[in-house]
Order: sequence, then structure tokens, then C-alpha cells
Amino acid sequence: MPRNLRADVAIAGGGIIGCLTAYYLTLRGVKPVVVEADAIASGASGASGGWLTPYSASCDPRLLALAPATYKLHAELAEELPEETGIDHRYQKIGYLRCAITEKGLETLQGWRDARTAEGIKVEWLSPAQARSITPWLTEDIAGAIRTDIEPTVDSYRLTISAAQAAEKRGARIVSGRVTGLLASRDHACSGLLLADGAHIQARATVLAMGPWTGEAGAWLGYSIPIRPLRGQMLHLEPPGPGDGPGLDVGMSAVDLGGSVLPKRGTNTIVGSTREDAGFDRSPTPEARKLLLEQAARLSSRVMSARLARQTVCLRPLTPDQRAYVGRAPGWRGVYLGAGHYSEGIHFGPVSAKALAGLILDGKSEYDLSVYDPERLLTRSPATG
Ligand SMILES: Cc1cc2nc3c(=O)[nH]c(=O)nc-3n(C[C@H](O)[C@H](O)[C@H](O)COP(=O)(O)OP(=O)(O)OC[C@H]3O[C@@H](n4cnc5c(N)ncnc54)[C@H](O)[C@@H]3O)c2cc1C
Repeated sequence: MPRNLRADVAIAGGGIIGCLTAYYLTLRGVKPVVVEADAIASGASGASGGWLTPYSASCDPRLLALAPATYKLHAELAEELPEETGIDHRYQKIGYLRCAITEKGLETLQGWRDARTAEGIKVEWLSPAQARSITPWLTEDIAGAIRTDIEPTVDSYRLTISAAQAAEKRGARIVSGRVTGLLASRDHACSGLLLADGAHIQARATVLAMGPWTGEAGAWLGYSIPIRPLRGQMLHLEPPGPGDGPGLDVGMSAVDLGGSVLPKRGTNTIVGSTREDAGFDRSPTPEARKLLLEQAARLSSRVMSARLARQTVCLRPLTPDQRAYVGRAPGWRGVYLGAGHYSEGIHFGPVSAKALAGLILDGKSEYDLSVYDPERLLTRSPATG
């Protein structure tokens, strides 16, 4: 027998966006319900690289302007959440080496350095020998590198679970179920969510945060929401055993290869990641494993001596302009979108979630989220997808 519920806010999707939005709402005394079709953090939020960088996608200046705010929120979450839930989500500040192997790569790297310097960010240019003095695990192929110390990492599975548990402790409810539509009136006012089992959740505000599946809500809202999945596969390498020598303690990538190697505190090193158009297929492939190992081996000699613990797959929610939709759903009252964060949802998740809580409760957000404005859903030209 389906059970109907009543809540202040109904949230569809238990990924980082849904769970952090629930958390920030509960900090304001509001009790949301999160509806999750599979399991909390079962999507990309549970299997991401957890790297807090604003430089993995569009580098839109309006997004870069939000980076200090989201870094501040991450630092606060790293204090608050473990205290509330006992879950250490492994927030860690690490150094990062962006390397080049070819002449063209060196040019790309110089461009990256110039752009960051113009933003006032301290970057250090390193010769191959200087880079190898930071970590002995760089290969002889490296022609130059840049070191930064601005991009921390987290375990995004633990962060999402912890946000959900903290929200629950403060009165949120997590409900298992598939959202199939909105409780909507003819004049486009929404009063909650419909679930596949026939139950409904009545709420004053509804948030759609279903990651790459948010496109389904286009049929509910009456216009296309062009979010599609972009598959990403990653490898997890076990830390070195006794007698293996030191592990990696800096992250690294090669601008001309595409791969990256990211050590995580107290756990495996991640080798990532592919970008594949494979629809909603979440099967790991041997081709991806081979490609990732080959790329990483050109970068770091540590990779070939490490044991492969597991291969993971998840789906980035990709929009045509690589920018999420965060804010009121155009043409509707009571519906908000929080989806499409592509490869930066863990990084920008806190700012988006806190902004959504502000929009719902105060009618405005403390952050300038115009870069994520959902109004562009209505002005999209067919050519932009
Ligand atoms: C390989 C890879 C590496 C990445 N690395 C990083 C990184 O280092 N740093 C970073 O910032 N970002 C990274 N990302 C991106 C980041 O993981 C995503 O942007 C983010 O997790 C998206 O969060 P979300 O909450 O929008 O979606 P999701 O995590 O996908 O959550 C959506 C949830 O909604 C649920 N759902 C779907 N449909 C329904 C429905 N009808 N009813 C109820 N529930 C539903 C799903 O089951 C899912 O749990 C990476 C992504 C990939 C794939």
C-alpha cells in the first residue's frame, strides 16, 4: 500500500546535490524528504574522483568566481559533518602537478599558468628535474610541470552519505522510490512529487536533482532538459605494501594525455578517467582499463607496480554548454532544478545546494548563480543541442 507523505520540501535524487540541499535546508530548521530510486550516492556522487577543482570543464569565469565560496563551504563541511555523523569524508589538501610530455603540451601548460597567474593564483613552474624532486614517481617522459596547492580532495561517497545522515539527524527523511512526475496544477504550480508505486509527497517546494536522469523531468515540465550521461571509468590502485617504497603524495595529470593520478588519504590511488558516450550503460570495459593504465604509466612509474583493486564506472550529467541548471524551473511555481554539474558536481555541489536552500526559503541566493540560470532552457537554439 503506497504511503503518501507531507514535507516542507521534496527532493528527487539522493546524489551530492540532493543530499547537500537537504542538509542546508535542515540547518535552517526545514524538514525535507529525499526520494532516491536506487541508493544514496549510487550515481556519480558515489564514484567520482572527489577532486575539488574548478578547472576540469568549461573554466567559465563566472564559475571560477564561485570557487572561493565553494572551497569555504567544503572546509566548513569537513569540520561539521564528521562531528555530526562520525563519518570522515577524507577532506585533504594535496599538491598537484600538471605535467606536459610534448612541445604542444608545454604550450598548453604555459597558457594554463598564464590564465591562473592572471586570476592571482600562485603557480610554480618546474623543470623535469624539479618535478621529480617532488615525487620520484614521475617518468622520464615529462618535459615540464606546474605545481599548485589549491585543490583539495574528498571521498565523495562518504561526503554524500554523511550529508544525508546529517540531514536525517536534523529531521529530513530519506525515502526509497522512483519519482515519475509532479503533483501539478493546470497553471503550472507544483505541490510535490509522484512516485512509481502510486504514492505522492506533498510539499511547498520541489527540487529535481536526478543527475543525468533529470532529462526525464522534461516530460513533466513541458520543455526539454538537455542533460545526458557521459560515462567515466576509473581505476583504484592499492597503496604500496611493506617494502614497496613510498606511495604517491601528490596528484598529477598530463595536459597532453588526458589521464590523471590522484592519491587519496588513507585509501587507494585513483587513476581516471574516461569520457565516453555510452548512454546509461554503466558496465566497466577492458578497453577503458587498458587505456587508463597506459596513460597513467606514461606519467608515473608507480602505476605499473601497484595492484589494481577495482574499476568503477559512473555517469556525469552533461549539458550542451557544460553548465548546470540551478534555480527555479522556468514557467513553474514551486519547482527548482539542481542538475547537470558535469565533471564538477562534487566541487560546486555545496554552493549549488546552499543556493537552492536560499532560493527556496528566502526567494534569493547569497551567491551569484547566473552562470547556472535555468532560464536558458527556454532560449536554447536547436544548434546548441
Ligand atoms: C568518473 C567521474 C569522475 C568525476 N570526478 C569528479 C571530481 O573529481 N570532482 C568533481 O567535482 N566532480 C567529479 N565528477 C562529477 C560528479 O561526480 C557529478 O557532477 C556529481 O556527482 C553529480 O551529482 P548529482 O547529485 O547531480 O547526480 P548523481 O550523483 O547522479 O545523483 C542523482 C541521483 O538521482 C537518483 N535518481 C535518478 N532518477 C531518479 C528518479 N526518477 N527518482 C528518484 N531518484 C532518481 C539516482 O539514482 C542518483 O542517486 C566525476 C564524475 C565521473 C563520472
